[in-house]
Amino acid sequence: MTLEGGPRVVVVGGGISGLSAAFEVRRQRPDAEVVVLEREERPGGTATSDAVDGFLVDRGPNGFLTNVPDAYQLSLDLGLENELLPASEAAQKRFLFFRGRLVPVPTGAGALLRSPLLSPVGKARMALEPFLPAADPGREETVHGFASRRLGREFADVMVAPMVAGVSAGDARRSSLQALFPRMHRLEAEHGGLVRGMLAQQRVRRAARARGETPLRAAGGPSGPGGRLTSFRRGGAGRLTQALAETLGAAVHTGVSVERIERGAEGRLRVVLAEPLTPRTLEADAVILATPAYAAAELLREVAPAATAPLEAIPYAGIRVVALGYPRASVPATLDGFGFLVPPGQGLRILGSLWTSTLFPPQAPEGTVLLRSLAGGVQDPGFLDLSEEEAVAVVRDDLRVSLGITARPTMVHVVGWRRGIPQYVLGHRQRVEEAAGAVATVPGLALTGNAYRGIGLNDCVRDARSVGREVAGRLESA
Ligand code: FAD
Repeated sequence: MTLEGGPRVVVVGGGISGLSAAFEVRRQRPDAEVVVLEREERPGGTATSDAVDGFLVDRGPNGFLTNVPDAYQLSLDLGLENELLPASEAAQKRFLFFRGRLVPVPTGAGALLRSPLLSPVGKARMALEPFLPAADPGREETVHGFASRRLGREFADVMVAPMVAGVSAGDARRSSLQALFPRMHRLEAEHGGLVRGMLAQQRVRRAARARGETPLRAAGGPSGPGGRLTSFRRGGAGRLTQALAETLGAAVHTGVSVERIERGAEGRLRVVLAEPLTPRTLEADAVILATPAYAAAELLREVAPAATAPLEAIPYAGIRVVALGYPRASVPATLDGFGFLVPPGQGLRILGSLWTSTLFPPQAPEGTVLLRSLAGGVQDPGFLDLSEEEAVAVVRDDLRVSLGITARPTMVHVVGWRRGIPQYVLGHRQRVEEAAGAVATVPGLALTGNAYRGIGLNDCVRDARSVGREVAGRLESA
C-alpha cells in the first residue's frame, strides 16, 4: 500500500456500497490509487451467496428489481449482461398467510375487491382513497400512519405491515414513510393521493410510448412499475459483489479492519488499521466510509465527532435466513409464486418464505425445491438467540402449518445477521442530514451505505456511485 503518484482514495467496507463506490472512483479517475479495506475474509458484505450441496443460497439479498436502472446498469458496466437471470413469470404471484392459509395478493382493483384479505368495511374504506385530501407533505409520518390515513387501518395491518417487515425486517408503526418509501410519499405530495399519482404516472408512460420512446423493458432492461426481480445465472445475487471485487482486483484488501480516521499531514486523512497489521496507518486524499452506521460512528469519533450521535441513533434489526432444500416429491404445495409474507398476529413466527427454486430454477438441483425463510426482525429479536437447531425447528414447524411440509430437509443452511438491516425510523432523514453535515466539514471524507438513503441493492449502488463520482470530482489532478 504505497503511494504511487496519483491521488489515493481509501474505501472502508467492501459490501455492495463500498465496492460500487470504489468502482466509480476508478472509472472517473483511472489515475487514482483506490484501496478497499474490508474486515471480513471475503468481500460482499450481506450481498453474498453460498454454494451448498448443489444449491445456490443467497445469504442476504436474492436479487434486485429492474424498475430503476442502478443495479442493472452496474451489471452491464461489469460485463455481466449474459449472466443476468430474471425471475420466472410465476414470481408475479405473491401470497399472504392469512387466517391459516395462503391467500394470493391481489394485483388489481377488481381482484382486491374480491379478495378475502379485507372485510367489506375495509374494502369500502380503501375505495375512499381518491377522494381524500392530501396531508401536509412536510409532516413526517410512519408508514402505518400513512397507509391507515389513506387506505384504512385494515389495509395497513394486513397488506402494508408485512411488506415493511419483508423489506426491512422493521415495524411499519415506527418506520418513516418519507425515508423508507419516498416514492409513495411523493405520489401524495405531488398528485394529491395514491390513485391519482398512479394514474398520472400511467399517463406519462403512455405519452412516452406515443412519442415512440422505447421503454428500457423492450430492450431487456429495467421495466416498471414493480420491475422484475433479477439475479445471476452463476453465483446468485452475490455474483454482483464478486464481479466488482474481481474487477477491482488487488485494490480490495480483505481481513483488514479499520479502527479510526484521523486528520493527516498536509490536509490529507489518515486511516488507522486495527492491530496487528503493519503498516498500521494509511494516508489518503479521500476516504469513503461504506460500513454500517454504528461502525462509521466509531471510525469518525475523532475526526468528525458531531457525526457520532446521529449515526449511533440509527437502529438495526437482526435477521436470520433459514434455507431448506427438499426433494420435490416430498413437498405437497405447488409453490407457484414468489413466496409468502406473514402479517403480524397470524400465528407464524417467520416473517415470510421465498420460493427460490420457483423464482430461480437454476439455484436448486433438478428434482428438488429450495425455500428461504426469514425470521427475527425488530418484532422478534429473540429469534437471533436461538441455536441453529431451534431456529430450523421453528421454521420447519411454520412450513408445516403454511405449506404442509412434514419431510426432513435434505439441505439446511442458516445465516444470521445480528445487526442486519438499518431501520429508517421517524427522524431518520434528520439524523442522516446531521451526520452528512458533520462529515462534510472534513475535506475528503464521505459517507455511503444502506443506512442512509435506501436499503435495497439499487439504492446502495445509486448512492455509492454518486458519492464515488463526487469524491473523484474533488480530487486534485495528479
Ligand atoms: P454491508 O453489506 O453491511 O457492507 C458493509 C461492510 O463493511 C461489511 O462487509 C463489513 O464487514 C464492513 N466493515 C464494517 N466495519 C468495518 C471496519 N471497521 N473496517 C473494515 N470493514 C468494515 N436488498 C435488495 O435489493 N433485495 C433483496 O432481496 C434484499 N434482501 C435482503 C435480505 C437480507 C437477509 C438482508 C440482510 C438484506 C437484504 N437486502 C436486500 C438489503 C441489501 O442486501 C443491503 O442493504 C446491502 O447489501 C447492504 O450493502 P452495504 O455495502 O451498504 O453494507
